[in-house]
Amino acid sequence: MIDNSGRLKSKTKAIASIVLSVLSFSLAANLEAAALKNKTKTKTKSARQAGVSAVGLESLKQKALQMYMVRNYPEACKLFRECVKREPRDASFQYYLGVSALYANELEVAEHALCRVVVMTEPTSEWGTLAGNALKDWKKQFSSIRPYSQSENGNLRRWDKSKGEIKVWIADGLQLPPGFVGPDLTVDKCRTLYSLFDRPGFFSRLDRVEHYVPNYASIIREGINDWAWVAAEGIVKFKFVDDPKNADVLYFWCPQSGGDSVGRTFYPWTNTARARCIVHVETSYLRKWGANTPKQLRETSAHEFGHVLGLGQHSNLSSDVMRGHGETISWMQQAQYSNVSPVTRNDFVTLRALYELPPDYLYVPFVDK
Ligand SMILES: [Zn+2]
Repeated sequence: MIDNSGRLKSKTKAIASIVLSVLSFSLAANLEAAALKNKTKTKTKSARQAGVSAVGLESLKQKALQMYMVRNYPEACKLFRECVKREPRDASFQYYLGVSALYANELEVAEHALCRVVVMTEPTSEWGTLAGNALKDWKKQFSSIRPYSQSENGNLRRWDKSKGEIKVWIADGLQLPPGFVGPDLTVDKCRTLYSLFDRPGFFSRLDRVEHYVPNYASIIREGINDWAWVAAEGIVKFKFVDDPKNADVLYFWCPQSGGDSVGRTFYPWTNTARARCIVHVETSYLRKWGANTPKQLRETSAHEFGHVLGLGQHSNLSSDVMRGHGETISWMQQAQYSNVSPVTRNDFVTLRALYELPPDYLYVPFVDK
């Protein structure tokens, strides 16, 4: 009983906030339309054309909202889909597409759109919170998925999947030279490091790390493969390579990474011809875990590879593989090896949404010759 009334209350609240935002949205839309009218008077030809398309979008938005208000959800859904096509990074369009689709019983469209809202906005933003609540409240329809924000000061980053597969190389127990090991490696130093990679014999001269066990590299591979269905779904593709010089992502080892992190990922520079991503995994932690090492190493590898794929922000849920640091500590204590992939549906829908949105920064993988 209590549960039911509580749920009812929260749903009434959700509806109230939807109505409120419709009102403020439509008010804002009117103001924008008025401002736009004044502006378009003194424009050059091309600017006038841009103005025409903006006005087109404006009237589309108004029509879509009208349909939404009179509860013609299939029509609202169709019109908001058009708005989203033109302005995919507008969270309000994505949100209304999601809710219209939900009422029109187009659940897949609704799920994708609401996930995109959460992923593209800050965790505390109005639209992000509304979309997150919709996904949470309609438990039955969405099986309670909880995507998490990937916005970093309003920016999204990910790989350019049109340039082919991301190529991954795993060092078999090798560590980087002094000055680049563990906490000594900084983002600035990565640039120096990339030029060292091109020197003849660089990789063959690397030292082996302490406490390395020969099967570690294969467990890392297992953790990366926990994301294999992401490739199967065509979201983003990756493959393993034997030559580090051809790799976009290089896994190295270090005895101690500093602090209490087990792994760390250094992102590549964006919008450059050649992106490279360095991952460090710490062996002294692995030794401490004893019998639990395979599970922990696999989860560490899957977590870091989530970062590699573009998930720069953590989840708040301790069950997700992209859980944040605070959650990592509690998860470390309950280690039981299982064959189940640690990557959850929340991790999946978050990554999927990220790759459905145009990003601000693109990592460009090395193109095979
Ligand atoms: Zn992390």
